[in-house]
Amino acid sequence: MKVLVVNCGSSSVKYTLFEMENEKKIAWGLVECVGLPEAYYKRQAINAKEKKDSLKITSHIKAVELIIEDLLDKETGSIANINEIAVVGHRIVHGSDKFSESVLLTEEVKKELKECFSIAPLHNPANYDGILAVEKMLPKIPSVLVFDTAFHQTMPDYAYMYAIPYEYYEKDHIRRYGFHGTSHNYVSQRAASILGKPLSELKLITAHLGNGSSITAIDKGKVIDTSMGFTPLPGVVMGTRCGDIDPAIIYYILNKYPQYKDGDNLNTLMNKKSGLLGISGLSADVRTIVKATETGNKKAKLAFEMLCYSVKKYISAYYGILNGIDGLVFTAGIGENSASIRELICKNLHALGIEIDINKNNITSNEERFISTQESKVKVMIIPTNEELMIARESKLCLLSAEKV
Ligand code: ADP
Repeated sequence: MKVLVVNCGSSSVKYTLFEMENEKKIAWGLVECVGLPEAYYKRQAINAKEKKDSLKITSHIKAVELIIEDLLDKETGSIANINEIAVVGHRIVHGSDKFSESVLLTEEVKKELKECFSIAPLHNPANYDGILAVEKMLPKIPSVLVFDTAFHQTMPDYAYMYAIPYEYYEKDHIRRYGFHGTSHNYVSQRAASILGKPLSELKLITAHLGNGSSITAIDKGKVIDTSMGFTPLPGVVMGTRCGDIDPAIIYYILNKYPQYKDGDNLNTLMNKKSGLLGISGLSADVRTIVKATETGNKKAKLAFEMLCYSVKKYISAYYGILNGIDGLVFTAGIGENSASIRELICKNLHALGIEIDINKNNITSNEERFISTQESKVKVMIIPTNEELMIARESKLCLLSAEKV
């Protein structure tokens, strides 16, 4: 069975075609800058070299059309017939509290998804455009929607509610949702497999540290709490997002600086100009921050330490909530690659039974691996995330269970 995974942003379409017999990627690529003069299409397949073309790509529909043409190409394509694609899996950022699991696309589901637009105005409309484009180009192939928020829907109400008047939950669905759910779900399943125990017997903390970062507490496979919230803004210090701050700071800035009376400017300040970039004044990229730290840049050092401290704080809090853990997982760009960040996060967590082996931690690799010492009570692991594969698996499962009904 072949599954096509599509991740549609406001000006991009990323895709991966999987052969599910062996769960291997057979073709993948992306269209960037849709609707802009600098639009391009970059793709690769297992049997073909990478190709990149600058093209006029005016819409998501055009982008999907290009992708399908390419997959069907007589010489370099990966499929001979479009019906070889059993199902298309779409990454959807926000499922609100309407979607607690992946769903097969129907007209009713489309209607419900549109009702989630106001809660994620930056992402969900773009995801929806992708659905419409695929529907137009592949009208006979079923689609499955896989939500970033769904895995977190098991949180208890006392963890997901905010202590503001209850009516805002009732009227506006304001509550913690959490994000990166597909990644936390994938790495927790992998952790169980590596530890050789069922998820139902494990307590885990998963740290997805990328440009956006979130930490999740998972008990017996169910999320108990997660650091992102109603939006992906709160939690740990991120590349350009501020993470947790005193909410009254927003009120203070808004009243003091006239340019922030416009909510959009304030939103940009917190989402795009804060975090590592805001503190260091240098970069949102951990690699640049680490280099600058080594040459004595004080603000870069502060940004680096703030990031590690905020992650450490969440790990410690979630350790308490879970009443101990079996495993701690690092994943995503920073979690998988930055030894110095992992080292500082795990430093002096002996009281929690977390001890990493510095030599193992310093090894560069893209394999799943342990970095804890032999004696460490908590197994500390690096597990490269694979959100596309998780979406493909979910889509296959959803299709198979719908066919059974
Ligand atoms: P996104 O949230 O956009 O998917 P990624 O998971 O790709 O982000 O993570 C991006 C982050 O990973 C950047 O801050 C980058 O500095 C960091 N990163 C990527 N490669 C390395 C590396 N080799 N060493 C340290 N940090 C890295």
